[in-house]
Amino acid sequence: LAQPHGDVDFEKICVCVRKRPLNEKERAKRDHDSVTCLHPMATVHSAKLRVDGISKYLDHNSFRFDHAFDEETSTEEVYRYMAKPLVDWVCGGRGARATVFAYGQTGSGKTYTMGRIQQMVADDIFETLSNNTLFGDEGCSLENSTCSVAIFEIYGGRIQDLLNKRNRLKVLEDAKGEVVISGLEEFEATNPAEFLAMIEKGHTNRTTHATEANDVSSRSHAICQILFRDRTNGRLKSKLSLVDLAGSERGTDTKSHNRQRRTESSEINTSLLALKECIRAIDGKSQHVPYRQSKLTQILKDSFVSRHARTAMIATVSPGSSSADHTVNTLRYADRIK
Ligand code: ADP
Ligand code: MG
Repeated sequence: LAQPHGDVDFEKICVCVRKRPLNEKERAKRDHDSVTCLHPMATVHSAKLRVDGISKYLDHNSFRFDHAFDEETSTEEVYRYMAKPLVDWVCGGRGARATVFAYGQTGSGKTYTMGRIQQMVADDIFETLSNNTLFGDEGCSLENSTCSVAIFEIYGGRIQDLLNKRNRLKVLEDAKGEVVISGLEEFEATNPAEFLAMIEKGHTNRTTHATEANDVSSRSHAICQILFRDRTNGRLKSKLSLVDLAGSERGTDTKSHNRQRRTESSEINTSLLALKECIRAIDGKSQHVPYRQSKLTQILKDSFVSRHARTAMIATVSPGSSSADHTVNTLRYADRIK
């Protein structure tokens, strides 16, 4: 399928790393910058030693990606390479399924990156829909299509509607193998402001219900879906999913004393492992699509099995030396997908 707009080549799976700047907290604990992003390579220097008065990095770990964005790179730039081609593509209708994931350790910049990307998506979608004549009625325009938004969260195996009072939702698979999220509310947006108001509402509902808000958001997957439907019959034409994944390190604290924590961790771990395999199946690297292994992958089934599926994975990393092990794990995960 040709891209309707956009000046950037985009394969079915596009993977990048984004490094954030070292922050005050890290400086205060004398963390040093242990990550170098030099497109297309990302390198983690896990230990810095002084030998005979000379600084030496030990244990180099380098990975190659489609893009490696350093701490100076703006979110606009990340958006232009990673999300814009997918936005253009879903505006072309024709069954497109596009998914953008933010994957990484808690505090590495997933929500920061996704939040800003959502703002740019809002502007671009309505600009494109307002003068889209490509693909005739198959493409999406303000005349022939509606644009609606659904936002939900998967936390501890439960799915909750973030635009509708955190209602508990159920995933069902119908006779044709289509996955439906029963009870999920979709709200139509007719301009960027309406779109962003919903994003804001979803964000507020994600974080305000718990006493340890950050802790909960680091243990949940938040999914924002933008659906384009035929204005006359409501048929789904295309879908864009923006996914802010649970903190990747949360899948590893399986030794916690708290039983609920252990269960949550193993769920996160299972979903992230299944996700990796499902994404690999998009361009045929894996024959098996284990989407039933987790709620996350089950919900995103059509993002993996559709012939019109495209995915962008943004692996966010913290530069601090105290995060180096997690950073290497993040890069390994992202590297496996490509
Ligand atoms: P995560 O969602 O992965 O847990 P956040 O997106 O909440 O991480 O980011 C953690 C902190 O780092 C926030 O205060 C955020 O504003 C800041 N931050 C993240 N990425 C960047 C960036 N690229 N530039 C500047 N600050 C950033
Ligand atoms: Mg977050």
